[in-house]
Amino acid sequence: MISPWMTIRELRILLEKGEVSVEDIIKATYQHIATYEPSLGALLERFDEATVSEQSASKGILAGIPGVIKNNICIKGRRMTCGSRLLEQYKAPYDATAVKKLYASGAIPVASANLDEFAMGSSCEYSALQKTCNPWNKERVPGGSSGGSIAAVAAGMVPWALGSETGGSIRLPAAWCGVVGSKPTYGLVSRYGLTAYGSSLDQIGVATRTVYDNALVLSVIAGQEEPVYDGTARKVPADYDLTLGLTGQLPAGLRIGVVENAFNAEGVSEEMKTALQTAIAQYEQLGASIRWVSLPSMEFSAATYFVISRAEAASNLARFDGVRYGTRAVDVKDLQELYIRSRSEGFGEDVQRRIMIGNYVLSHGHADAFYKRACAVRHTMREEAEQIFGEVDLLLMPVAANEAFPFGACANNPLQMDLCDYFTSWANLVGIPALSVPCGFTKNQMPIGFQLMGNYWQESLLFQTAYAYEQVNSWHMMHPDLQKLL
Ligand code: GLN
Repeated sequence: MISPWMTIRELRILLEKGEVSVEDIIKATYQHIATYEPSLGALLERFDEATVSEQSASKGILAGIPGVIKNNICIKGRRMTCGSRLLEQYKAPYDATAVKKLYASGAIPVASANLDEFAMGSSCEYSALQKTCNPWNKERVPGGSSGGSIAAVAAGMVPWALGSETGGSIRLPAAWCGVVGSKPTYGLVSRYGLTAYGSSLDQIGVATRTVYDNALVLSVIAGQEEPVYDGTARKVPADYDLTLGLTGQLPAGLRIGVVENAFNAEGVSEEMKTALQTAIAQYEQLGASIRWVSLPSMEFSAATYFVISRAEAASNLARFDGVRYGTRAVDVKDLQELYIRSRSEGFGEDVQRRIMIGNYVLSHGHADAFYKRACAVRHTMREEAEQIFGEVDLLLMPVAANEAFPFGACANNPLQMDLCDYFTSWANLVGIPALSVPCGFTKNQMPIGFQLMGNYWQESLLFQTAYAYEQVNSWHMMHPDLQKLL
């Protein structure tokens, strides 16, 4: 019998034993989606079941395993909306590298997933197309911007999803929906086919219900394409496999630095602190040595991220003008009006706000005070990272100060939304890998998580450490009561 909560690892065992077929899995997946998706709102385009089943002949490592893909990642012939009115009818002309690699492994994408418009947001409320609920409580946001991807995994629709991170967009919803979310080192996964938001920050990453599954899918999508389309992506060996170190043991002498100024930051809830303290004690029992460290530059990361992400967004989104890309306004009197109306009718409010701020911080007379200064601060962060990873192997801190908030909580205060990046954006600015791991529930029965961050290319250590924690806990076996969604 197939249960919606089965992991990739479990499904593969059933498939290998011949106890279920790929058709059984696909059928169960579509049934589950048909029941809960109308209430959840995680998916934008469901791919036709019959054509999807035809793809299932491959014998790769993910053969027959369904998943969903954030809708800012190209799948040839499928709509690639970026959650925007402006691209609502746009069809991707090619596959992203990560998608190609998934196909080659036999994985079966069954749908594209909702997101904040152009991956800009922290709650999924900025999607221009639909509302996605948190599977644990339909009155609350799933987090964003990869909210659809993460909600689909948390609701048992699929065991894996691709998301993308610019400033925390996988880790935050993962923490708020109780799943594992990875943000790889900048350059581990090719950005070819990922719609650019902040190019120096963007990375595709993975959401799953367990650490093992996450390591497995990330291993599949890692590495540059041939010929090269993303020059910042790295080549990985053909046998690249992040699951190899998952023994349940920590490496001898592992030093974990708990970020003291994150733990004690304003607004971090007592429940979060208690959960973190319990995790810290468990790591000590597992043999890690714990040190309390301070990361002063982390306190500037939301502000620095704010400037750099807007600057890069303004430049990246210039192509969506109704001429090169995007729906073109009709009945215009001249070219000027065509640009203005295509963009103002196509882009949502927050995207427009970001483009304006981005152009402002890059403009003559202001670039020194904002953009260049932000780049200098980013440089300092990298120096601080280099120093800290000389003292400890990994860093541990909250993903967010609190649990997922109710819909509309930030409606009158967009800056409040931006503060959701407070703990996450440091890793993006530095370019290091990070993993969000479920670590408990609040009294409102909402999941929370912590994050581990490692030095560049230390994914293997991150997964090994997270896996050891998962083995002595059962958070990954707790699932939302989906009946409450209906
Ligand atoms: N909340 C951040 C933003 O809105 C993060 C987005 C992301 O990581 N894509 O920019």
